[in-house]
Amino acid sequence: MARLSTRASLSRLNRTITIIGGGLTGLSLAIALRKHRIHVQLHEAGSYPRHRVCGEFISGVSRETLENLGISAALSDVLTHQSVCWFSGDQKLRQTKLQTPALAISRFLLDQRLYDIAIANGAVIRTQFRHATEVGAPGTVRASGRIPSPGSWIGLKAHIKGLMPSANLEMHSGPIGYLGITQVEEGWYNACGLFRIDRSIKSKQEELLPAYLRKNGNHLLADQLQFAKWRDDSFSAVAGFTLGNQPSTQGMMCLGDSHAIIPPFTGNGMTMAFESAEIALPHLIDYAADQISWEQACSLTDKHLHKHFRKRLTASRFIHPLLFQSASRHLLKHAPISPILSLLR
Ligand SMILES: Cc1cc2nc3c(=O)[nH]c(=O)nc-3n(C[C@H](O)[C@H](O)[C@H](O)COP(=O)(O)OP(=O)(O)OC[C@H]3O[C@@H](n4cnc5c(N)ncnc54)[C@H](O)[C@@H]3O)c2cc1C
Repeated sequence: MARLSTRASLSRLNRTITIIGGGLTGLSLAIALRKHRIHVQLHEAGSYPRHRVCGEFISGVSRETLENLGISAALSDVLTHQSVCWFSGDQKLRQTKLQTPALAISRFLLDQRLYDIAIANGAVIRTQFRHATEVGAPGTVRASGRIPSPGSWIGLKAHIKGLMPSANLEMHSGPIGYLGITQVEEGWYNACGLFRIDRSIKSKQEELLPAYLRKNGNHLLADQLQFAKWRDDSFSAVAGFTLGNQPSTQGMMCLGDSHAIIPPFTGNGMTMAFESAEIALPHLIDYAADQISWEQACSLTDKHLHKHFRKRLTASRFIHPLLFQSASRHLLKHAPISPILSLLR
């Protein structure tokens, strides 16, 4: 942090950084850059607040990262969760405890909070504006989330009341996917899952969630969801993405999900969004101060991102397919959870 302050105070900081996308990566980066008095223009295709497909379970983020980005206040009063219960189909497999508690907050609230902090710190944010993502001018950061691709996954989520989960996080798995249930603010439970797209499912909108759960063998949960109270407008769905490293975009610095998507079961995607903003920060400060070229800023950041995330992306690529096999799911009953989790951080 001291290194960043010195760089900032010595520099003229006269170059603007343009950020495409105001999710967690874009907003946290905008806040951090503004703390160093760098001009920021952020373009966001949507508006705030809004519900988004996300498990809303933040695992593995350090206090230091939140402080370096200047976003600790947004997460200071959130729920913390430690107990996790795994199900295969309708069968409870095991209950375990995370070594370090995870944070839980809805994206509806978190993105709005970060937007408010960014605005208060002088970021210029244009909402409901879709910026071109083909080729970037120098100083352009792509934080626009997943890079669209044919992909075979669908993500579904809704906020629900009236559930009685047996742990802070319930993970329901089966042959075509998994779904987590975790409490967020105001007594709402977030039900969010990732499934392999099944073209035989003809349900629409809200009915998709119970339909995918039934196909996955999670019948008891599907029944519970169908009779529970759903939060207005909270149902969201996303498809057309590939897990793992994303293709790079010529001339742009790609961060967060635009750099790499870790499988959601890790609960680490939001942490990676914050960490990628933190990793890019010193290089963007140097670029804004005219001390390095845009090409140097991009290549230094890219190198650092690959090194920092390699272990967790590789481990998750091997573990993820095991969640879809009955035999390996049952091994979960006895598997040592802490060493596995340490590979995913
Ligand atoms: C099913 C599922 C469950 C998940 N569960 C969890 C979890 O429990 N814990 C966890 O840590 N992570 C989870 N994740 C991952 C997490 O949601 C992402 O890693 C995180 O949101 C990435 O943040 P981001 O800012 O990079 O991208 P996003 O949050 O996707 O933000 C990108 C933003 O860019 C905007 N945008 C896109 N294109 C343009 C454009 N051309 N111009 C302007 N704006 C644009 C979008 O509107 C959006 O606001 C889950 C993901 C899925 C799919």
